[in-house]
Amino acid sequence: MSFSLPQLEYSYDALEPHIDARTMEIHHSKHHQGYTNKLNAAIEGSEHDSKDILDILEGLDMNNMALRNNAGGFYNHKLFWEVINPNGESAMSDGLASSINDAFGSFDNFKDTFSKAAATRFGSGWAWLCVKEGKLEVCSTPNQDNPLMPNGCGGTPILGLDVWEHAYYLNYQNRRPDYINAFFEVINWGVVSERFNQAL
Ligand code: MN
Repeated sequence: MSFSLPQLEYSYDALEPHIDARTMEIHHSKHHQGYTNKLNAAIEGSEHDSKDILDILEGLDMNNMALRNNAGGFYNHKLFWEVINPNGESAMSDGLASSINDAFGSFDNFKDTFSKAAATRFGSGWAWLCVKEGKLEVCSTPNQDNPLMPNGCGGTPILGLDVWEHAYYLNYQNRRPDYINAFFEVINWGVVSERFNQAL
């Protein structure tokens, strides 16, 4: 079995002006393709060859850096493209809205918590909103790690933000907080709500 680059359900310029077309094209066609190719090379002929991506992540040997970096890179970007989908129903479900209120007090408090996790992740990594034992939590991970890995912050990720410089540098340079604000303009809360329901 080998993995292939997921096709976007929208064009590279669909998230303008918040995420620019050139960044989207390079991010998807070069970076995500690179993780996909290296994941396939890492599993070829190994015990992981017939596993799906969740099995690979959850049973990961964290010392296997090629598999750790590229299985994470493959999964994380696939999730990222899905939660910024500009097409279709983008309203948050009542269930997700009330869980956000329960966990964080308000949507604005959630946004602050998530934005802080993304802004303070030193170097490269991701910020996450996860469902853990039925409740929502925010966490962040370095590099291409994610909450599903054995050392991860735990839970099922329903929203993820890539804060690697390759995700924003062309348009935002060193202004990561501006990119984080822009991300909130393109989140598809309908998709995140579906992921929330599946994770419960
Ligand atoms: Mn990336």
